[in-house]
Amino acid sequence: MTRAVDHGSAQVVGDRLHRAAPPNAWLHVSRAAGNAALGAVHQAAGPLSAQRAPKLDPAKVATAAQQAHASADAAQALSMLRWLTGLPWPMGALVQLQLMAGVQVGVDSSGNPVQAHVFPGQITEVAMVVAGVHGSEQSGVEVAERLLKQLMTTKPYFTVVIVPKLFPGNVDSRAAWEAELARKQSGIAVGKYQQLRDKAGDIGRSSAGQEDPNRQFPDLGKDLDLDRPVDAKGRLIEPSNLALLGLINAFKPSRLVSIHAVKNFTQAGIFADPHPSVRNRQLAQDSDALAIAMAKEAEKRGVHVAGNKRGTAWSSLYPGQDPKKSAEQIKRENAKGRSLGQWGPSQGMTVITVEVGEQYRSNSAVNDPDRAAELEAEAGVIREIFLGPPQATPTPTPAPTPAVPVQPMLVAAAAAGVGNVAATDLAQRFMRYRRGMDGGP
Ligand SMILES: [Zn+2]
Repeated sequence: MTRAVDHGSAQVVGDRLHRAAPPNAWLHVSRAAGNAALGAVHQAAGPLSAQRAPKLDPAKVATAAQQAHASADAAQALSMLRWLTGLPWPMGALVQLQLMAGVQVGVDSSGNPVQAHVFPGQITEVAMVVAGVHGSEQSGVEVAERLLKQLMTTKPYFTVVIVPKLFPGNVDSRAAWEAELARKQSGIAVGKYQQLRDKAGDIGRSSAGQEDPNRQFPDLGKDLDLDRPVDAKGRLIEPSNLALLGLINAFKPSRLVSIHAVKNFTQAGIFADPHPSVRNRQLAQDSDALAIAMAKEAEKRGVHVAGNKRGTAWSSLYPGQDPKKSAEQIKRENAKGRSLGQWGPSQGMTVITVEVGEQYRSNSAVNDPDRAAELEAEAGVIREIFLGPPQATPTPTPAPTPAVPVQPMLVAAAAAGVGNVAATDLAQRFMRYRRGMDGGP
């Protein structure tokens, strides 16, 4: 379904983009200077960076810096390309088609291309969608792929940047394992799938020898240093996350949704960062309202969101982020590094985390005839609410009025009766329009 999107012409565009944006000495110098200044400002604020950082191999730092610069350049070029969609036909349309088909913005640690797709919206404000952070979470990738397909035919309200597979190699290795399982068995129970998956070691969750992909972000409030791209713990950041950070820096999204999947149905849901229980500010209130609106609609459409209803009321608090946890637990959690949900809000961005219930796709070995509809519905909720226009604030229900069907003939007659030429013309035009809609007489 999405093969055509992932490969083909998109690859050519990506290659061209990299050639069109060679390392640019003066740009790098000025950006590095800017980052150094920002780094100095934030140095005091980062408790994790104050801890003892690991010793790094200078050759590996140099390679990572090169990847960070290349991704930053590709993302900058992509963010400028979006303004060319306004060019006269056919140029603007061609640019738009290429942006939608996907452009390479980096590589993963095995050299596989990381693709970003851009969809111009009704407004220029940017919302980002990321999936495939954990390659094992195949259902989350399918939601992003279904969303991508929906966006091909429905213009979003926000301008959208979507990366359906942030760690493409990890996603593909897990997809291969799932395909092999589906070839050997079909219609198995979820419990059986869970056993087999756990026995196989949850293939694709992270890159070999690397930290958790979602614990590799800079310390809170800190920008990425392109010349020394390390996370809050002083470890080199994987190239996929460098590509993501490049996109965030170039497009400055005001909101980002990261689509994951949990290994059960009880914790599935839609969660908000920052959360009001952690930071009681406007951003937290807004992200909370957004996540709950999405979760409620998702439930109506048959999506698993039990994780949003753990207490008596709806909650957007991520199950693993309860601030009531002990200081020891929080310390242990922080020692792993910074997550996107922690780092994003420190940059003024709302981060919504979607946790699909279970990891399997709709074409997996698992017997779940409702799976395709569920994943399609989750994509629809993201498109309509997260990427859609602001939700209308509830207004008091007006007194019911009897529905009166529009009677164009009567309107025309009444208008003619009072000599209102404009109203007569409007009514006649409405009648012609309606006949057109009905297929004509
Ligand atoms: Zn995940």
